[in-house]
Amino acid sequence: MRRFFPDATAAEWNDWRWQLRRRIKSLPELERIFTLSPDERAAVANHKGALPVGITPYYASLMSRDDATDGLRRTHIPTGEEYLKSKGEADDPLGEDHDAAVPGLVHRYPDRVLFLATGTCSTYCRYCTRSRMVGDPGGDYSFPKSQWDQAIAYIEAHPEIRDVLLSGGDPLTLADDTLDYLLGRLRAIKHVEFLRIGTKVPTVLPMRITRQLTRMLRKHHPLWMSIHYTHPRELTPEVTEATARLADAGIPLGSQTVLLKGINDEVDTLKTLYHGLLMRRVKPYYLYQCDPITGSAHFRTPVEKGLEIMRGLRGHTTGYAVPTYVIDAPGGGGKIPLLPDYVVGRDGADLLLTNFEGGLYRYPDPDGTVGADRKSGRAA
Ligand SMILES: *Cc1c(COP(=O)(O)O)cnc(C)c1O
Repeated sequence: MRRFFPDATAAEWNDWRWQLRRRIKSLPELERIFTLSPDERAAVANHKGALPVGITPYYASLMSRDDATDGLRRTHIPTGEEYLKSKGEADDPLGEDHDAAVPGLVHRYPDRVLFLATGTCSTYCRYCTRSRMVGDPGGDYSFPKSQWDQAIAYIEAHPEIRDVLLSGGDPLTLADDTLDYLLGRLRAIKHVEFLRIGTKVPTVLPMRITRQLTRMLRKHHPLWMSIHYTHPRELTPEVTEATARLADAGIPLGSQTVLLKGINDEVDTLKTLYHGLLMRRVKPYYLYQCDPITGSAHFRTPVEKGLEIMRGLRGHTTGYAVPTYVIDAPGGGGKIPLLPDYVVGRDGADLLLTNFEGGLYRYPDPDGTVGADRKSGRAA
């Protein structure tokens, strides 16, 4: 703050609207702070595609100024690799537009919906699953109030919907009264049992979590929140304060993390992150295999790497610190869990298992043989 925003007061720095206004978006702004590599400079100068560049000054302060290989920096400053399309990649790999019941409302699972409330984020992750619709692309991705009305009418007309997940874009970039209005409209629907918000704001713009915001949010309970984290370096005093306010407001907190090559794909990195989250009353919820979004090959790890990390967590640390590792299936199959295989085989009716230390254990499975016969289609 002192070095690159000398005109700012501490009050301004801690004001989320100031942080949004002063977002770092252009090549000159980036170059004022970072020593860009030739590759980064060219990627920003010849910027292509819908996904804008945007970094809050606060979040930029966590990144290395000189080292272009710094993990957090790589997640937000484009490189040339972003413009390479690899096999199997797509702009909407999860088929969300296909599953949109009305624009901005994805109804994939029978009992719950994904409500895309806005296209705005406070920062833009280069591996964004919704890069096609965030920023300001317009058309079906412009999120006018009439679109909210349509989505709310759809939920009202579908009594099987008991869970509404607000995402976007980032719902916490909306003004308090706007979000209050939307949560209130959803709360008023009798069959909607609970609401949740998916957000990265508590990590990249922690000053947004004001007392006024938490006072408003707690009116809409039961309200849960899934917060996007990437790396233990994000767990600053500001983030500690923001999560404390949310937890004190009675909002159960979960984390979502995208597994990113060379950024957080080590057991120790994620274990440190997850321990830090438990201390801040955040339960690790999902670890995502990176979606095959166009231009994401440099971020994606082999699935075996993710399984190795899961093997390194389960049993080695608190069970609460172990998230579910998932692939959001391309084509709209939803989230599919991936587990290291702890079942070694069978010995008669007994199930043979291996534990976290590699020891071999036997469980007398009550009707294991019957199940096995049924599965292979033979008569018992
Ligand atoms: C992730 C997701 C949900 C919520 O999934 P949970 O496993 O219940 O957290 C709902 N709808 C869509 C389209 C999603 O991608």
